[in-house]
Amino acid sequence: MKSVLKIVNAALPLRDESALFTLSAEDGIWTAVERQAGAVEPSPATMTIDGWNGAMPAEGGALLLDAGALATLPAFIDAHMHLDKAFSLPKVGNVTGTLEEAVRNYSALVPGFTKDELKARMMRAALQAISFGSTTLRTHLDFHVRHGKEVALRTIEAALEVREALAPYATIQLFPMLPYYDLTEEALDTAAEALRMGVTGLGGAPHLSPEPKPDIDRVFELAEKHDCPIDLHADESDNPNIRTAAYIARKTLDYGWSGRVTAGHLCSLAAMADEDARPIISLLAEAGVGAVTLPGANLYLQGRHDRFPVRRGVTRVKELLAAGVPVAAASDNIHDPFHPFGRGDLLLIGLVTAYAAHMGSPADIREALRMITDYPAAVVGVRSGIEPGLAADFVVLDAATPEELLTMLPERRWVWRRGRCLRAAAPRAEWNGGALQSYWEDACERVSFRQGRD
Ligand SMILES: [Zn+2]
Repeated sequence: MKSVLKIVNAALPLRDESALFTLSAEDGIWTAVERQAGAVEPSPATMTIDGWNGAMPAEGGALLLDAGALATLPAFIDAHMHLDKAFSLPKVGNVTGTLEEAVRNYSALVPGFTKDELKARMMRAALQAISFGSTTLRTHLDFHVRHGKEVALRTIEAALEVREALAPYATIQLFPMLPYYDLTEEALDTAAEALRMGVTGLGGAPHLSPEPKPDIDRVFELAEKHDCPIDLHADESDNPNIRTAAYIARKTLDYGWSGRVTAGHLCSLAAMADEDARPIISLLAEAGVGAVTLPGANLYLQGRHDRFPVRRGVTRVKELLAAGVPVAAASDNIHDPFHPFGRGDLLLIGLVTAYAAHMGSPADIREALRMITDYPAAVVGVRSGIEPGLAADFVVLDAATPEELLTMLPERRWVWRRGRCLRAAAPRAEWNGGALQSYWEDACERVSFRQGRD
């Protein structure tokens, strides 16, 4: 007997806003997505999602839900996190708030982090992200080979254990960040060992290297040898002359690594003139390099050394998208010395992206939602969507439209992984009831206001 999930009256705002849909899944895989002629009358066995307590039927049973026209999106994909660093701010600190001090302070304390401590931070950050609706997470990992192999591999071991423990709830990709100073043979051997242990691909921040090009060359050689993807922090700088992105794109073309290379941050693109940025953007598009914008961390970190006017540091999101580059919006650091805020909620990051990139038109708002769903799927190389044959990883949110999603950032969400509900929202009556309802009634009484009156 197959486990069946059927949801009627689902709104799919990224697919077609003129209709509601009936979604069917079996054993965690979508089997049908049917456009309804109008709102359908649910069968007696169907529960409203709002009143449902989240209980799943036994294996082989059927769950029938009425989504009540709530927005249903593919589960979010956080394409760039630092799970190992998340929530380390109380321990590490950063007085100046600069990227330089963050790197320095974190690096100094890395040898003292125990594996258990690293695992605890990663678990907390990942579970929080999952609770907000992300079921695919790509995390970069500190890889401090200069403190010795044992220190570098301690983080890797912790991450592999967390990935395994959370496998029922999320797909987690791991990218150790190769050192940006003097990429030694020992560092490369240790990276090869991490790949053998099971990390997903190779990361790094070559723009920080005194010799970025040879470092990038070696990352590509190693990636080819191990047949793995590359995800680099690229040009996280206000200096318009830092342009490793162009070299990364050329190497991608040379190696035929299209679709397997990601460039995150791309801040210097925002600091340079249009005529300098244009050819780099074209090259990224031609090479099939995916881009990730990290607006929270970059609005916070960039422009630190400017006097007014202060640069904002967020890459050219609209121009990259217009050139055909898939651009993901992602969390980056969470409550650590690099970025004191954030909570792993990609809907919030979608809103920050919309602010930072001036995306407020109806089309822009939908694009911002694609930047946390469809585009990161392309960037991290997973298949995702509400389509027959794909995994039923999705999130239902207490909002009717994309505008409401970014305006209200609804806390009430139902998060699903492979057809199983990981988080269900409390019924609306419980959520809104009690005090708020009586205040509302009282206030209406005082101003002689009645709902429905014009
Ligand atoms: Zn990062």
